[in-house]
Amino acid sequence: MKIICVGWNYGKHARELGADTEKPQHPAIFLKPETALLKDGKPVYIPDFTNQLEYETELVVKINRLGRGISEKFASRYYAEVGLGIDFTARDMQNEARRTGAPWDLCKGFDCSAPISNFIPLEELGGDVQNLNFSLDIDGNTVQKGYSGDMIFSVDKIIAYVSEFYTLKIGDLIFTGTPVGVGPVKIGNHLEGWLEGRKMLDFHIK
Ligand code: MG
Repeated sequence: MKIICVGWNYGKHARELGADTEKPQHPAIFLKPETALLKDGKPVYIPDFTNQLEYETELVVKINRLGRGISEKFASRYYAEVGLGIDFTARDMQNEARRTGAPWDLCKGFDCSAPISNFIPLEELGGDVQNLNFSLDIDGNTVQKGYSGDMIFSVDKIIAYVSEFYTLKIGDLIFTGTPVGVGPVKIGNHLEGWLEGRKMLDFHIK
């Protein structure tokens, strides 16, 4: 399986990172390897290679059909479950990569950089993937609040776009981008992620 991620899919977040604020023509896509996944509330260890490990809370869509060249109109047939994930980023390395034009593979795709929740049928959450609220608390304080209706590129547009390039397979995950409010974590932090009032993520930084 593969983990497909979208960068800068919420305008306010793109601006907080100093990205171009004009509406981009296409979503910014990158991949994380399968070894980035971390399940079951296991702790996240801050890797030695970064001094700035930052959380990005994201709605995650699980692909449930094989497909390529999927049209936006039919894209909703390719998923039925959603979850919550963290796109952990070695921000110091990413800033360096943005300066030099180097790819993001290492700063975004290192081991355990993608803690992931269980998945819930979208129907149980009202059935509209663009009408979901999610948030992240650190040590009991809410640091990110997202609403999927604020995405620059909708889930269906993302699927249509990436499936021009990659065959989507059952079990592939799409991290759909993070809202404003990203920031660093430190050892001892307790992270709790919420999706439509349900606790989805609960883990510690070590
Ligand atoms: Mg992200």
